[in-house]
Amino acid sequence: MTSTAPLAEVLRQRLAERRERNLYRELKTLAAAPGPQAEVDGVPLVTFSSNDYLGLATHPAVIAAQQAGAELGAGATASHLVNGHLEVHEQLQDRIAGLTGREAALVFSSGYLANVGTICALVGRGDNIISDRLNHASLIDGARLCRAESLRFAHSDLAALERQLQRAQRNRKERGGGNILVAVDGVYSMDGDCAPLREMAQLCREYGAWLMVDEAHGFGVMGSAELPAAGSAAAAGLGQDEAPVLMGTLGKAAGNAGAFVAGSRELVDYLVQFARPYIYTTGMPPAIAAGNIAALDIMQSEPGHRERLRQRIGQFRRRAAELGLPLMPSATAIQPLLLGDEETVVRVAGRLQERGFLVGAIRPPTVPAGTARLRITLSAAHSEKQVEDLLLVLAGALVEYGINGESPGVWS
Ligand SMILES: *Cc1c(COP(=O)(O)O)cnc(C)c1O
Repeated sequence: MTSTAPLAEVLRQRLAERRERNLYRELKTLAAAPGPQAEVDGVPLVTFSSNDYLGLATHPAVIAAQQAGAELGAGATASHLVNGHLEVHEQLQDRIAGLTGREAALVFSSGYLANVGTICALVGRGDNIISDRLNHASLIDGARLCRAESLRFAHSDLAALERQLQRAQRNRKERGGGNILVAVDGVYSMDGDCAPLREMAQLCREYGAWLMVDEAHGFGVMGSAELPAAGSAAAAGLGQDEAPVLMGTLGKAAGNAGAFVAGSRELVDYLVQFARPYIYTTGMPPAIAAGNIAALDIMQSEPGHRERLRQRIGQFRRRAAELGLPLMPSATAIQPLLLGDEETVVRVAGRLQERGFLVGAIRPPTVPAGTARLRITLSAAHSEKQVEDLLLVLAGALVEYGINGESPGVWS
C-alpha cells in the first residue's frame, strides 16, 4: 500500500509551480476598500480595477442607509426560510423587480451563489445547459454541478450556438424529454463586450430553450429608455418573455454585496423551493439590504452617475487610440488591454503600481491561455485627470517593455 504524500509537500510543490508559470496570485491589502483613492502599504494609489462603476460604494446616502440598517441587527440570524427574511429584504426585492422590469426578484448572498443555485435548480440530469466559452466562472461551475449535459459554443458565435441547440434538440428526441437552458454573460467580465442577446433570444425561441442572462456588469449602468438601469437585456429590447431568467449582482454597480435573480413570480417561488444555495445559507445582513435599497434609489434618481461613466469611457477610448494603445472592442466600463503572456502583464501592472495606479493583471485560468491582459475598469468616480494620467503612464510602460502598436503579433 502506498502512503499519501504529506500535505505540506504537495502544497509547496503546487505553489512553486504556480510561481514558475507567473500565475501566482497575491492578495493586496488596502487600507480602505473602495476607490478610486486607495492606499496599499502606505502608498496612495488610484484604482482602475474595482467594479464600483457608479461610485456608489462611497456615496454618503448609501453609507448612511447602511449604518441605519445595522440598527435592525448585525445579521439576519438564520436562513431566509427560517427567520432570516426581513421586510427590508422584501423592499429590496420589490425595488429590483421595478428597476429590471420583472414581476419579481429574489436576493441571494452573492452572484456566485445565485448562478450556481439557479442553474442547478432549473436543469439537471437529462437536461441540457448551453454556455458561451467565455462565461464567468460561476456560470461554468453551475453548468458543471447541475449534471445536465453541458454544451459550449465559441464566444458570441451565433452559428455555433445554433449547432449546440440542434444537438440539444437531438438529445431531447433521443431521451424523450429534457429542457434546454442557454446561459450567457450580458457583458463579458474580462472582455467588456456585449452578448448578441437579441439574436440569441430569437434562437432560444426557435429551439424552445430558456435564456438566462448574467447582468453582473450590465445592471445599473445600461438599459432601455424606460428601464435605464436594468442591464444589457433591456438595452437589447428583451423583456421577461424573451429573457426569462435575469441574474445580477449587487457587488458591482450597486457598490455593495449580494445578488438577485429576477423574472416571473413563478420563477421566484420556484427558486425559493429548489435553489439550495438560497435555502441553506444565512440570509443577507439587513444593513446590506438597506444599503442596496439606497444604491438602487440613486441609480433611479441620479442619472448623472451613468452619464459621467459614459464620458470617462469615451475619453479613455479616444485618448487610448490617439496614444496607439491596443483597445479591445468594448463600449463598456471594462476596457482590457490584451498583452498575451503572463510575465508581461505582471510586469506592466507592477510598473503601473509603482507609478500610483492599481489595475488588474488577469491571467489564466481566469482567461484562456495566451490572452493575459490588463483589466482596466472605469468608474463615474474617476476624474478626467485620473484617466488621462493613467493613459500617459500606460503608454510609457508599454514602450518601456517594448510593446507598442507597431509590434506585430502581440495584439492579434
Ligand atoms: C462578479 C461576477 C459574478 C459573481 O458575483 P458576486 O456577487 O461577486 O459573487 C457573476 N457573474 C459575473 C459575470 C461576474 O462578473
